[in-house]
Parts: sequence; structure tokens; C-alpha cells
Amino acid sequence: MYDQNHLLSQLSAAGAADDVFAIRPARPDMTYSGLFAGAEMMAATLVEAGLAPGDRVAVQVDKSLEAVQLYLATVMAGGVFLPLNTAYTVTELVYFLSDATPRVIVCDPARLTEFSDIGEGATVLTLAADGTGSLMDANAGAPFTAVPRNADDLAAILYTSGTTGRSKGAMLSHANLASNSTTLRDAWRFTSDDVLIHALPIFHTHGLFVATNVALLAGASVHFLPKFDADAIVTAMPNATALMGVPTFYTRLLDHPELTRETVSNMRLFVSGSAPLLVDTHEKWAARTGHRILERYGMTETNMNTSNPYEGDRRAGTVGLPLPGVELRIMSDGEQMPKGEIGVLEVRGPNVFQGYWQMPEKTAEELRPDGWFITGDQGFIDDRGYVTIVGRAKDMVITGGFNVYPKEVESLIDAIPGVRESAVIGVPHPDFGEAVVALVVREAGDISEADITNSLNGELARYKQPKQTLFLPELPRNTMGKVQKKALRETYADLFK
Ligand code: AMP
Repeated sequence: MYDQNHLLSQLSAAGAADDVFAIRPARPDMTYSGLFAGAEMMAATLVEAGLAPGDRVAVQVDKSLEAVQLYLATVMAGGVFLPLNTAYTVTELVYFLSDATPRVIVCDPARLTEFSDIGEGATVLTLAADGTGSLMDANAGAPFTAVPRNADDLAAILYTSGTTGRSKGAMLSHANLASNSTTLRDAWRFTSDDVLIHALPIFHTHGLFVATNVALLAGASVHFLPKFDADAIVTAMPNATALMGVPTFYTRLLDHPELTRETVSNMRLFVSGSAPLLVDTHEKWAARTGHRILERYGMTETNMNTSNPYEGDRRAGTVGLPLPGVELRIMSDGEQMPKGEIGVLEVRGPNVFQGYWQMPEKTAEELRPDGWFITGDQGFIDDRGYVTIVGRAKDMVITGGFNVYPKEVESLIDAIPGVRESAVIGVPHPDFGEAVVALVVREAGDISEADITNSLNGELARYKQPKQTLFLPELPRNTMGKVQKKALRETYADLFK
């Protein structure tokens, strides 16, 4: 029934009707046939609400299996799924809705009035965390024959986090999503025997596409958790085989007393991404569980680009090798850099998006006509082909005319006994233009600024050393575990004024 729909035909191919797709707390398991039957009903409801092929369905709801069904339903109805972070305020939502002009909005019942006010002619339906709401009441009836869609048609728009100016809507086609998830399924050896612990949010590429699509494409099952919960994950592990998480999942799980070799004896794979995994976390995890975390690198615009190998050397501090079918190069001043030299990463492949929604100039700035996407991440490729990310280009510090890559300084500070982690930023300085500043979180004890300076002397050129080191109880992070360097730069902008 889904043959003509490029993405859906693939997502629905592997799971046997009676197999369990999802195990969830306090509610019955959901089978593959239940998953798609529910999606068909929702697809009929969306069409009845006026959705035509190519129309956007904007969704701001708590994580639930019904929200996953809504994603499948949107694709089934030929629409474009547009998930919105549950943390967005009304002001932010006004921008997204006026930019994306969705035909249908699905929101939490508690926000119905707000969305009805700002929805500008869209039909507004509701969906609560417990799976109730007007989306479910409007039972237009299954079966629903999927709307035909081609490889190049859009399946989703995901807004980037917008750390520099306005958020941009990354347009992802059916083939972008299907090809990348197939590559990951094969690279990470997912099969119908797998049970994936799914504790990531589903408004972001990691939880929505990497975790959900890979599980569907493999016909696997998921332990579907509403959010990160160390207790729930540890409890699920003996009956699971894989976990996908952001680095903070792993640091928090390491604090859990029941994380033991015995607890993970059924697990075969731990994947980390969306933010850099500290070498220290990688090593502690290996010592505690016997498993080497597999780190991979990607972004909203490109899906996943690189991964450490499933079989072979998983190298801490690196994001591994380009995935099959993905080309990667390092560029600086228009030249391709040799091995070992730092520049901006560019990627090309079937994973790379179609451009930014209604922003042709931005698209032209970042996506070259020959298909290379300028990621804005800086890094290098080593002799063995492994990629290391040293930070976002905009986070690079230029002090007294010299470039300082935060990761180099952070790695050395992180290795000092008594340091839990650090973030290195550049802030305005009257003499140097920018000054290197380190924000450090202590492990235990009372390591001082002088201790850090003494450790760095002899290891790091003077200009790379922090002009000032400040201690914080923790680093500010967003929901995907990324350190908010922009916020830190703003907080410490006047340090040298
Ligand atoms: P997003 O579009 O929200 O997924 O953010 C993508 C950005 O996250 C990338 O451009 C990188 O800067 C960062 N990122 C993702 N995975 C990793 C990783 N494994 N190591 C370092 N940075 C990462």
C-alpha cells in the first residue's frame, strides 16, 4: 500500500506485522501493524483537514509513540513533517509558523489557544503526552493508501538551532532520510533482533531520524522512553541491545551505581553523537562496561556524515571515518587541506539536504552548486582517515592575530587531574582583539587557576593559554547536550573591558 511513497515504502518494509515495534512504560506494547494502522488513521485526518502534497505539518508536542505515528502519517499523506522543540516560546513559534506556513498544526492541548491565535489559517489539532487529543478523536478511518512521493520530494523541514541569527529550515527529501538511515542500519549492523533504547527527543535529527528510522528500517524494537532517565535506561538494558545517546547520557549513566558489566551483558552497541564525547568519558565507559562507545558525527542539514567503525578501532576523540557514499574534505582559503591540517569540513552525498526553506541566499552561501555543503565545523583528517572535529568555525578564537582552536586547549585542561570538563571561548580584549578564556568545572577538590596555568606551561604555546580561568558548577548545555558557547561569550563579554 505504500509502494509509491519513497520513504514510507522503505520504513515499512522490514517490520513483521505482529512483531513489537515499541515497548513503553505503563502502556501496552505497540506492534508494527498497530504503528502503521494508527498512522493511516492520522493520515486520513490530515487530508481531511486540507493537507495537500507538499504542505507542512508543524508539530510541537511531548514525546509519544503517537507523535512518531504523526511523522509517518505526514509522510504517508505526502506532507512535510516539521517538528518543533518543545522548549520554544510563543515569540519563537510566531517566527517558525509565519516562515513555514503550515496547513496543519498539532500542539499540546494546553497550548491550543496560543496556537489558534498565531496559526494563521492552519487547522490546529491537539495531541497530549498520553496519546489523547483531537488528532485522535477525528477518526477518519483506515486503510489509507499512501500518497505517491518521489525520492526528491520533501519529507521534513527541521529548523537549525540558529546560534548565529535566525533559525533556518533545513529541507530534507525522502531520499536524504532513506539513504542515510539505510547506511547507518548497515554500518551499525541493526537487524530485527535488536532492541534499541530510545530516550532522545524526537524533534531533532538524532532521535527522529537516526534512532527511529534505523529501528524501523531494521524491523527492530525500541524501548520508547519519554525522556532521558538513568534509572529507566539501566532497568531496560538487560532486555535491550543498543543505546543511542548524546554525551551527557553517558556521563550521567556513569554516575549510576547499577551500571555494571552484568547490567550491560545483553547490550552490543552504544552510540554517541550530537556533541563531542570527552575522551575521559569514553575511557571510563570502557573500563566500567567493557564497551567502547561508537562516536559518530552529523548535523541537521546533512544527516550523519562520519562514524567510528563497528568492527575495528573506535578512536576516542575522533568521529571516525566518512560513511559509505559520503565524501568529506577539509578546505581552507579555497584550497583542499592535506592530512593533518585544520580547515572547514565540507561534505557531499545523498545525505545532504535540499537547501534552506525560502532562503536561497543562505543556501547559496553554504551549499555549493556542485553539491558540497560547507558544514561550518573545523577539523582535520589523520593518516588513517579518521576525522577529528576541533569546533565550530565561529567558535575559533583569534588572539593577537593567531588562531586558537578551543578543542586543543580544552583537551589539555580536561586531562588535568581535578578537572571534570572545560569550555574555551574567545572574548573581546583591548590589546589582543580576543582573549582566550577557560570555563572549568572541577571534579572534586579545589584545583586553582594557578594549577591549571602551571600544567599548561610547557604543553601549550603562551598565546593559546587562557588569559583567565573561571570555575563554574556546570557548563550551560541545550537539550542535545551541546555546550552553549554563544551564551558563555555573552556572559563574559566584558571580562577585559
Ligand atoms: P545539529 O544540527 O543540532 O545536529 O548540530 C550539528 C552540530 O553538532 C555539528 O555541526 C557539530 O558542530 C556538532 N556535532 C555533532 N556530532 C558531533 C560529534 N560527535 N562531535 C563533535 N561535534 C558534533
